[in-house]
Amino acid sequence: MRLLGDYHTHTTYTHGKSTIEENVKQAENLGLKEIAITEHSYLGYNHIRRGDLQKMRTDIESIKDNYNVKILLGIEANLISLDGDIDISDEELKDLDVVVLGFHKLTKLKLSQFFKFALPNLLRKKPTKKQIERNTKAYLNAIEKHRVSIIAHLGYAGCKVDCVSIAKECAKRNIYIEFNGKRINFSKEDIEGMIKTGVKFIINSDAHHYLNVGKNHRAFNLIEKYNIPLEQVANLDNLPKFN
Ligand SMILES: [Zn+2]
Ligand SMILES: [Zn+2]
Repeated sequence: MRLLGDYHTHTTYTHGKSTIEENVKQAENLGLKEIAITEHSYLGYNHIRRGDLQKMRTDIESIKDNYNVKILLGIEANLISLDGDIDISDEELKDLDVVVLGFHKLTKLKLSQFFKFALPNLLRKKPTKKQIERNTKAYLNAIEKHRVSIIAHLGYAGCKVDCVSIAKECAKRNIYIEFNGKRINFSKEDIEGMIKTGVKFIINSDAHHYLNVGKNHRAFNLIEKYNIPLEQVANLDNLPKFN
């Protein structure tokens, strides 16, 4: 089995250590066919500025013929409310090749959402059933309202969810569930439940340095450990088709 693409990488446009070109060069060295640049969106702790997406598109255009790798421009949008709001406009999403959605601890939320959504997740090590329901609904609302291609690191930052309910919806909508190179928060039950929904997983690095592009040993271990059907992994021996 061969990994053909990495669809979650960062660069010096936010707090990554490498340029777009360095990430792309590394992807080519590794024999990947595709790489996506998915910077943190506007309300993240580290985030792009207005106009950066256009600049990144220009950067990509200027190098794309020099490499044998397809370069996708995406975003790592932040989930910012229980209603499923995200921190980038639907208009901007239309121009992107891939949309990654994630919940992050230090995102700048509206005060009311900070208290209702972020704070309980920050405070409680063991979330209540209600809290899990609310978090789950926030993701379901987001994928109902916005274009989403990949859900990143589910369960991260204390935002515990009912992965199986989310996976069911993702399976219907062709949204991939990520095995993140830096953080995987799934239990055995989560993974076994998600497999049954028929959802497709995707292996991404979340690289913040070019040397981490394409790296995700834990995902490969999980695939083996839980016998995840290879046809349910979108970027192994195949290329994903994004919403
Ligand atoms: Zn980051
Ligand atoms: Zn990321």
